[in-house]
Parts: sequence; C-alpha cells; structure tokens
Amino acid sequence: MNNLIYSYINYYFLIINFIFGNDRCIKCSKLCINSLCKTCKLNILNKSKYLKIDETNFNHFNRVYFDEVYSVDTYTDLFFLIKEYKFNNKIYLSYFLSHLLNNLIKKYSIDFDLIINIPNHDFLQYTLYLALNLSKIYKKPILNFISILNKKQKQHFIENKDDRIKNVKNKYILKKIIKTNNLNKNKIDILLLDDIIKTGATINEVSKLIKENIKTISKIKVISLAKA
Ligand SMILES: [Zn+2]
Repeated sequence: MNNLIYSYINYYFLIINFIFGNDRCIKCSKLCINSLCKTCKLNILNKSKYLKIDETNFNHFNRVYFDEVYSVDTYTDLFFLIKEYKFNNKIYLSYFLSHLLNNLIKKYSIDFDLIINIPNHDFLQYTLYLALNLSKIYKKPILNFISILNKKQKQHFIENKDDRIKNVKNKYILKKIIKTNNLNKNKIDILLLDDIIKTGATINEVSKLIKENIKTISKIKVISLAKA
C-alpha cells in the first residue's frame, strides 16, 4: 500500500458518496462535500478531550508491554465519527481523524522514531491510512510488519474482557524480520496506532510481539481515536 493507492481509495469513496447523495454533514446534516462541515469539524477539534489513559486501566494484565497510552476522546463521544469511517466506508474521513491524532501528539509532545499500526481483518486498512498521514506530517517511517491471522474472530464483536484477551492471543504474526540499524539510533521509540481501545488486549499482544522481536525498543507509546 502506498500513498497513491491510498489517494485513489479516498477519491473513489468520496465520489461514491456524492453519487448516492450522502453528501451531508454526519453531525448537522448541512450540505458539504466530505461528510463533515467546517463548523462541526472545528467543534470536534476544540471539544475533544485528548486524554492520557491511566495505567490502572490495564491492571487486569499479568504484564503490560506498552509504556504510555493516549486517546483523542472517549468511545461514547467519538463513536459517531469512527462508525462512519470504518463501517460506512467514508475513508476520506481519515484526513480529519489524523488531524485529531496530530493534536493529541502535539498536546503531550509525544516523541517517536517509527510508526506501527494495528492491522484489521478487512480489505481496507483503517489504521494504516491514519499512519500514512502521520508519517507524512512527521517524516517518520511506518513499519508495516505485523499481519493478522484471519481465523480469529473480530475483536469488536466480543464483549467479555477475558474472552477479548483470549481471542487476541497469537492472533498477530510478523511478516518479516526487522532491521532497524538504518535508523542510526540505539533506542527506538514506537508510536503504536490503534482506533479503539477497550481492554487493551490487542495493544498488549502487539506490544509483546514488538518488544520480543526488536531488541532496540525503548518505549511503546500508544495513540488511539477512542477509549471505551
Ligand atoms: Zn455539520
């Protein structure tokens, strides 16, 4: 997946949306071209909580492999937007969602060397599009080395905490061996990108995989759109 294919996907869904007459703001129903009007965009940018998630939220793990967790907003407040992006294929909303993530990074001055996104089951890779935008803004590479095993169930269909933790066990695998020496650094900080964090089972499993396979990792800083 490169930037060109990503732009084509964006335009494709933007045109489809226009043809089928869904060219209204998802928040206030005013006519607009990319599903959010200027006023609503500004409102969301200003009213989002930009949270630092306390580590006590992850006390249910025997071991926590990530170091810091941040989220643009709560699940309740941002779900309307994530739903349109992920489940109604409004892929072009990735630009605005990246803008929110960028505000989060700026608020906490989150420093990083590499971006890793959590992959999903579908053809469209929602967190990868966000990662591509952030990679462009910060001029940091994306390490696209994690694959998902398709036989596992989709995590958002599972409500029970223990079942969620069990479901992600060995769900992710490495695509290739990583060489990070060309980064010229002894210690590398990772920006790990996910869309929604519930129990933290997914981010913990992927963080474990990263730390076990890249010896030069210093910190894993997780950013997400929403914390449930
Ligand atoms: Zn609006």
